[in-house]
Amino acid sequence: MIENKAPGKDISDEDLASKFPLAARRGDEPRRQFEIAGVPFGGDLIPVMAGPNTVENREMILRTAEAVKKAGGHFLRGGAFKPLSFPYRSDKYFELREEGLRYLQDARDATGLPIITEVMDQNYVGAVAEVADILQIGTRNMQNYALLIDCARSGKPCMLKRHYGASLRDWLGAAEYMLLEGCTKLILCERGMAVPHTHRASSRFLLDLQVVPAAQEFCSYPVGTDPSHATFWAPWVKPMTLASIGAGADFIMLEVHPDPRNAAVDPLQPISFDAYDQLMLSMEAVARAVGRTVGRSL
Ligand code: PEP
Ligand code: MN
Repeated sequence: MIENKAPGKDISDEDLASKFPLAARRGDEPRRQFEIAGVPFGGDLIPVMAGPNTVENREMILRTAEAVKKAGGHFLRGGAFKPLSFPYRSDKYFELREEGLRYLQDARDATGLPIITEVMDQNYVGAVAEVADILQIGTRNMQNYALLIDCARSGKPCMLKRHYGASLRDWLGAAEYMLLEGCTKLILCERGMAVPHTHRASSRFLLDLQVVPAAQEFCSYPVGTDPSHATFWAPWVKPMTLASIGAGADFIMLEVHPDPRNAAVDPLQPISFDAYDQLMLSMEAVARAVGRTVGRSL
């Protein structure tokens, strides 16, 4: 028995020793700490990654980057390549792809905020890695092992989202693929599970808060949450963000939009700049209660 691991759970000593030895945390081994673009992960600071679902145009991503920075956010998020659920594209439902990457670069040049953005396809790892400080691997690609390997080989820090149907064991298996290929700065993001009673307007996904301490028990890499994708509903983002911090999340990803109701993709989930600014204050208060900080003065 490895000390301090929940006995009788689905992750065995044998898994830790031979299936994901690189991802595994043994006994009291300290959790990993490292910097990405000068921002410390895995310590007292809870970095915040905020921005729109989709990079819609240059002006909106620049405005959002300013707002993210002003409120104390650490990374700008925003998809240039999007895993859109339906194949048709229109003026209202689109992805800017390479053009979006250029706007993200402009936003970083203007604000100094580092960028996290999704890569969906092996063919674009190089292009996304040129702009991104963190490569985001989305829920749908968690077990796209060829993509994981290429992302790891790019040498960039990576964020691996949990598939909405994956066990912790499978998630750590996917992480192991990346660690084995030399990814040294890996962070794990819970973004909500599909369970039988979800996939309805009232609860599209279920944010699995318990997986935060569970993943931290079995794995030494930072574990955070994305309450926006989990709740799919702006009014619930604040409570689930604060709950995530209470549960020990090592970072938070949030959707913030200059005009939430008119967001091109997933308009129900982004919060406004004002709501985000207020949320940062509440996050700081809760973080302090658990001995951490989001770096925002109260
Ligand atoms: C996103 O963060 O833009 C996204 C598509 O998330 P997920 O992969 O969790 O659906
Ligand atoms: Mn989405």
